[in-house]
Amino acid sequence: MTKINPVNILKEHDLKHTKQRVRVLEEISMDEVAISQPELEKKLGKEIDRVTLYRILNTYEDKGILHRIMDMNGTANYAICSSSCSEHHHHDEHVHFNCTSCFKIYCLEVRIPKIKMPDGFTAKTMSTTAYGTCEKCNANPVKPD
Ligand SMILES: [Zn+2]
Ligand SMILES: [Zn+2]
Repeated sequence: MTKINPVNILKEHDLKHTKQRVRVLEEISMDEVAISQPELEKKLGKEIDRVTLYRILNTYEDKGILHRIMDMNGTANYAICSSSCSEHHHHDEHVHFNCTSCFKIYCLEVRIPKIKMPDGFTAKTMSTTAYGTCEKCNANPVKPD
């Protein structure tokens, strides 16, 4: 994942620069994998209350800065959209990978192919999540005790 500059991202999207907004972007861009909402709340709980955090995440999602990925337990996870995509404001349609061993969610650079909808249906977004074991878990399989 490319290094992001939170201040530039806010500027690009005409968002007012607040310390809290910067903190949320910093936290989310810290890791190459997506971060779950409970994890974000834990990390930022002292600085940002839940309602504000929720509002910031929604704004970012609307602006196409972040995208939300639901994991297999139905928990929301967030990842920064790649810069090439946010320029065009369209939603980032790539495959996600949910590791069933370490539970991390990866954004894969694999695009979801266009799927033709039946007449009368308009698809706005499409999501594909693959489940299995990630490269790290495959390299270090957990040995049962
Ligand atoms: Zn894994
Ligand atoms: Zn993604």
